[in-house]
Amino acid sequence: MDPIQLICDIGEINEVFTDARSIEAFLQKIVNMVARHLDAAVCSIYLYEEAKKELVLKATCGLETDYRDSIRLKYGEGLTGLALKELRPVYERVGKSHPKFKFIPGIAEEKFDAFLAVPIIRGISRIGVLVVQRENRREFKEKDIQTLRAVASQLANMLENARLLIYLKSGSIIDKKPRFRIPKVLKGKVASQGFAIGPIRIIDKDKNFETIEKRNFSKNYDINDFHKAIEITEHQLEDLQARVEEKLSDAASLIFTAQLLLLKDNEFVGTIGRKIEAGVSPPRAILTVTRHYIDIFSHGTNSYIKEKVKDIEDLSIRLLGNLVTEITDLYKCKDHIIVAKELFPSDILRLSSEQALGVVIVTGGVTSHLSILARSLQIPMVIIDSQKLFSVQDETRALLDAETGNLYINPLPEIISKISNRNLAKIRISSKKGQLQKHTYTKDGQRIRLCTNINLLSDISLARKIYTDGIGLYRTEFPFLIRNDFPSEEEQYVVYRRLIEKMPGKEITFRTLDIGGDKVLSYFDWTKEQNPFLGMRSIRFSLSNKELFRQQIRAILRAGIGASIRIMFPFISSVEEFLEAKTTVNQCLKELHQMKIAHNANPKIGIMIEVPAVIPIIDNLAKYADFFSIGTNDLIQYILAVDRTNEKVADLYVPHHPAVLRSIKLIADSAIRHNIGISVCGDMAHQKLYIPFLLGAGIHELSIDASFFPTVQNFISKLDLPDTQILTREALKAEKISEIAKIMT
Ligand code: PEP
Ligand code: MG
Repeated sequence: MDPIQLICDIGEINEVFTDARSIEAFLQKIVNMVARHLDAAVCSIYLYEEAKKELVLKATCGLETDYRDSIRLKYGEGLTGLALKELRPVYERVGKSHPKFKFIPGIAEEKFDAFLAVPIIRGISRIGVLVVQRENRREFKEKDIQTLRAVASQLANMLENARLLIYLKSGSIIDKKPRFRIPKVLKGKVASQGFAIGPIRIIDKDKNFETIEKRNFSKNYDINDFHKAIEITEHQLEDLQARVEEKLSDAASLIFTAQLLLLKDNEFVGTIGRKIEAGVSPPRAILTVTRHYIDIFSHGTNSYIKEKVKDIEDLSIRLLGNLVTEITDLYKCKDHIIVAKELFPSDILRLSSEQALGVVIVTGGVTSHLSILARSLQIPMVIIDSQKLFSVQDETRALLDAETGNLYINPLPEIISKISNRNLAKIRISSKKGQLQKHTYTKDGQRIRLCTNINLLSDISLARKIYTDGIGLYRTEFPFLIRNDFPSEEEQYVVYRRLIEKMPGKEITFRTLDIGGDKVLSYFDWTKEQNPFLGMRSIRFSLSNKELFRQQIRAILRAGIGASIRIMFPFISSVEEFLEAKTTVNQCLKELHQMKIAHNANPKIGIMIEVPAVIPIIDNLAKYADFFSIGTNDLIQYILAVDRTNEKVADLYVPHHPAVLRSIKLIADSAIRHNIGISVCGDMAHQKLYIPFLLGAGIHELSIDASFFPTVQNFISKLDLPDTQILTREALKAEKISEIAKIMT
């Protein structure tokens, strides 16, 4: 036997496979060849049918059977099943006397002794098992095992294709959709709390327009109907725009402006009109002209242009909806629970202004900022990693319980009443949260500055209801993220000024633009990065787009006149980077002064501590900074090398890891030594488990979402500072995560 020769033959068969007429013949050819080369009496290929969790005999030479598909083994059953389950070769000198051997009557397997099975694996998929057998006590040697393994690995690719084709032919893949049993409850992860009950609407943004294009419309429409549809659409868009402005003034300008403009554009509307007058039916005329625009724009690779294509598609669907009765209700989101694969922040905004009830995002295509936005818009959102959801019919009734993360399909009345009662009870409790203190103190009288994080101006109303000590983190990227165009300096100024005016007497910390990583702007041409979290994000983006950065700084300084403001740079990783950013602020200050433009001349300038590299140089940075604020969300992900948005490693994202706690202490110590401000603005700041540690480490300023304020204030008022210091010392001494967990709970 010549293993090299064997492998070469399979290489040739690869080609045969490409134009093979019959897969069965191809598989047969393989088993014959392997048997011949390994000098085996039997060679069989079993392929794994995932849906049934069964191995099915697909080809054999040496076994007496014509009923291949009827020979099936359960996952893990027999020596063959064992090889697949344990992903290892299984060899027995006398297979038939092994207790796990599965006797199959009628195939005359009992006459063989040596039994060797190797799994066929591709990547992490289990494809099947390759089995060879010999008679007359002739054994397989180690070299045979290695050869068969090599063959299995070389065959894996072809066999995977074969498996797919077989199932396609048998219809078991095509059939998949109707055969899916849709579970009654799907479990997901809460992104934005709330509760919604209503019909489901599945949105596949890429397909909506194409699907409509393929439809036939009745011909009973004329040019007057078209003009009427334009009028209705215009009113609808103005109405939506007004609603967005009311809810989210930061996005005010312009989420629907592009569509409104297009609606007024003579080129677009005029061409459709001319087509109708030339005899084309109005729906077809809209579709043809839209398609023409899409084709022109789609040639561009520019993200901004692509964003415009979406606007054109949306507008055209809306126009059609207002023209023809057939699709009036299709693609509308009002009063529906939306199921979608991927959404941009601006989509959430649209859904919210169209009064969608809730959102379910399928799979992990969600950014942490999409969740933050959904929370600010108070739209319940859950992330569910199950493609099965796409086989649910539109209009199926569902209950979205975004407290637990459950989506109930066709919920039973008992479930509806149980969950809605719980929800009502919760609303009653939260409306009673009244008894807030003007200032936050520990039990023994230590004053703690409790500040608020703001993402969107709509968060202000809640922040105004509590006695916040200031805005410890204003995430300025939100107005950038939710729009479909870069906001100008003037537009930013208006948003920042509104924030300052709504929070009189409060110090406000502006965190400069923190985009990149998972926060991509839909309208900006981002070069695709292998590791976006380690790439062109945050301050790196600002420093390499200086004009944009300067516009933002100028807008902050101008808006900050008469107020107490702090400017904080995110993602700083070196002294140079911080100094470069600080120099930009100083240049802007000088310019504004020279141009006699009113501005705040004394902003405090600080660093958001998120990159572990700054910890060993923290004293150097402290010399130049007015304050540090620890962004624990990112700091933890970078210290522990755990992507904060990746569900698969969520268990490893442990804030009480000794490396995280000791880092926090080093940062706090340095700030205290240099007499500069120190606070925490990441999620650890509102988590009861960690607040005692932070206070004990000397951090007496926390910035949290307003919704956590009552519980955190109440919790702090029950803590004694000396106790927290003891706890912190203990936690810092511990070696293991588990020890710290015990100390903290
Ligand atoms: C952080 O990283 O802790 C933080 C507050 O910033 P963001 O969550 O916006 O990244
Ligand atoms: Mg961060």
